[in-house]
Amino acid sequence: MSRHLGLDVGGTNLKWAVIERDAEPRLLKTGRLPTDTRGGEQSVVRQLLDVAQSIFSEVEGIESVGVGMPGVLDPAAGVTRFIPNIPGQWDGVQVTGEMTGAVKKPARLINDARAFALAEHGLGAGRGATSMLGITLGTGVGGGLILGGRLYLGHEGTAGEFGHQTILPDGPRCNCGNQGCLEALARADAIAAACGQPSVEESVVAARAGDRRAQQGFRDVGRYLGIGASNVVVLVSVDRIVIGGGVAAAGEILLEPIRQEIRRRVHVTDVERIRVVCGELGTWAGAIGAALHGSA
Ligand SMILES: [Zn+2]
Repeated sequence: MSRHLGLDVGGTNLKWAVIERDAEPRLLKTGRLPTDTRGGEQSVVRQLLDVAQSIFSEVEGIESVGVGMPGVLDPAAGVTRFIPNIPGQWDGVQVTGEMTGAVKKPARLINDARAFALAEHGLGAGRGATSMLGITLGTGVGGGLILGGRLYLGHEGTAGEFGHQTILPDGPRCNCGNQGCLEALARADAIAAACGQPSVEESVVAARAGDRRAQQGFRDVGRYLGIGASNVVVLVSVDRIVIGGGVAAAGEILLEPIRQEIRRRVHVTDVERIRVVCGELGTWAGAIGAALHGSA
């Protein structure tokens, strides 16, 4: 049996989880605090190290640390590249080296959506799936691929960017620089706009109350997500798709149009065997996935 710490850094909260690995991984302890962004990237990294050190003094026998962050990372170098949703100058910030210096254990860096996929596959709604696509829906649209039971990171560790595949050739500009990315069509504010509501939460309430525009908005966004998911199914044949992030709370209003679109688009494999479900680990998925990644 071994113990591993995972830290999940967001623009609002820093969450952590300690897992135990035996035959099956199991969640031992979790915690959260507001992210200290007052001093930009320096205070965020300082806080990460402080939190890790205090957990190490509290919990015995931790063997590794995984750090999950939202954005573009260089996992091999343990360095951040572009993190739009946490204040700071993030290009070239060394995270894993600092962490190993602080706690004297190996540390690894992982994108937060990849961490979500890893966690749901190991302990959540993806258990037992041979190959799985994890999708995170929130401020952005993230993804992670489990292929043949293992997280697939591809060349330079950046595979799984589900949200940055082109869906509409001349569609809206995306934050990544491309046009017509899935993220530009299915991020939280794009969903709210499609539903004619100020937020996704209000869009869900409106759709459930019978508002036609909100219902159509979810059908349209679900269709885009379904096209993106179909492309992944055709290319790598996943048998499960697990959806998480704040927007996943919309539930069936969003999931059903995704399933319909997959049935419409995919003709190269038996679509009835592909399950599209919501994640089970909720707010702790990112920290659990980071811990799993660190332990690998
Ligand atoms: Zn993009």
